Amino acid sequence: MSTSVLVLGAGFGGLELSTRLSEELGDGVDVTLIDRADSFVFGFSKLDMMFGLREPADVRLHYADITRPNVRFRHETVLAIDPEARRVVTDLDAYEADVLVVALGADYDLGATPGLAEAGHEFYSVAGAEAVREVLPSFRSGSAVVGVCGTPFKCPPAPSECAMLLDAFLRERGVREEVDITLVMPFGIPIPPSPDSSKAILARFARRGIEFVPGHAVSALDTATNEAVLADGTRLGFDLFLGIPVHRAPAVVVEAGMTEDGWIPVERYTLATRFPGVFAVGDVTSVGTPKAGVFAEDSARVVADQLIARIRGQDEPPGYDGTGVCWIEFGDHQVGRVDVDFFSNPGHPTGSFTDPSPATAAEKGEFAASRRARWFGA
Ligand SMILES: Cc1cc2nc3c(=O)[nH]c(=O)nc-3n(C[C@H](O)[C@H](O)[C@H](O)COP(=O)(O)OP(=O)(O)OC[C@H]3O[C@@H](n4cnc5c(N)ncnc54)[C@H](O)[C@@H]3O)c2cc1C
Repeated sequence: MSTSVLVLGAGFGGLELSTRLSEELGDGVDVTLIDRADSFVFGFSKLDMMFGLREPADVRLHYADITRPNVRFRHETVLAIDPEARRVVTDLDAYEADVLVVALGADYDLGATPGLAEAGHEFYSVAGAEAVREVLPSFRSGSAVVGVCGTPFKCPPAPSECAMLLDAFLRERGVREEVDITLVMPFGIPIPPSPDSSKAILARFARRGIEFVPGHAVSALDTATNEAVLADGTRLGFDLFLGIPVHRAPAVVVEAGMTEDGWIPVERYTLATRFPGVFAVGDVTSVGTPKAGVFAEDSARVVADQLIARIRGQDEPPGYDGTGVCWIEFGDHQVGRVDVDFFSNPGHPTGSFTDPSPATAAEKGEFAASRRARWFGA
């Protein structure tokens, strides 16, 4: 008899988990994969799309193209989760399974930052990035503020990438001299686990005239004066505000009683929740690695390998090791790389940096292409 696995969320985590179970177990598994969206977009594709480097239609990977045996995709919205019974209700159906994996990612709470929705832009959602793409070509002078509104947030390098790509975008159009760019970040340096990456980013900021305001988050936008208000009351005027909104676990997991301090706690090495047969992977957890696709994917692979071993009656495979690779866009088609390790030295993550180059840009392209092929057969 096959094991039924219900996967909530078809992002980095849900896609990798479903794919691996299908390729390893064949008819030994029956996977139902549920997502409210009809397509997947890589986080980094939002930056490409917003700066006109890729077309919106080209960055969408349609779930209808998933053809893995024993994986059934359902385009539905999860409305309720009963983790004790591993029962899930959606807008169209109800499900029960032997194993439940929650991979619902993080939602954005624009309302947590007064004025953001009215006076600013966020570029973390597909719709937000598309809206910025529309306004950027007519932004030719004034002050641009890239501002983080709260922690934790996805892909810690992304705000720095946004500032550097904006610089390159404006230079290409010959209007860079007319624009001030400021980046507001709650961290002391751009990438805290990697002083070398931070040094390289700060050097690039200095060379390109990007002002870095560390140790602050944007708590509100004053819609009357067009100023970003920082937590200590400092005000920064802006003509264009590109925000990283406050992140929250999706309401459905909070209502299910699965969260503590906002996110789903999991056993660090196995990704098991406190509910038997229920795992959680990726951004929705507080596992201790950053909210990033590479970590969501890796933790999903660990859960898949445990299930595969269990079904085959094999020994427990190695646990989640908390390491990952992040690529950093420096603009001008130059990409750097940071290899980070969050678990070896608990409380003191480390990272080593590879200088930006076209070769590393190609490596990032290869990463995306291999996922497109593996998950979508593209
Ligand atoms: C601008 C930007 C740049 C980024 N760059 C990088 C990068 O270079 N490298 C990197 O590793 N990461 C990057 N990220 C982060 C990365 O995109 C996320 O961390 C990653 O997608 C998390 O994977 P996940 O599987 O946990 O969640 P997600 O990929 O967010 O998937 C969650 C899924 O759940 C679905 N869902 C949510 N609620 C419901 C519901 N109620 N019912 C049904 N479905 C639901 C969503 O539609 C979504 O498809 C970037 C993110 C952004 C915004």
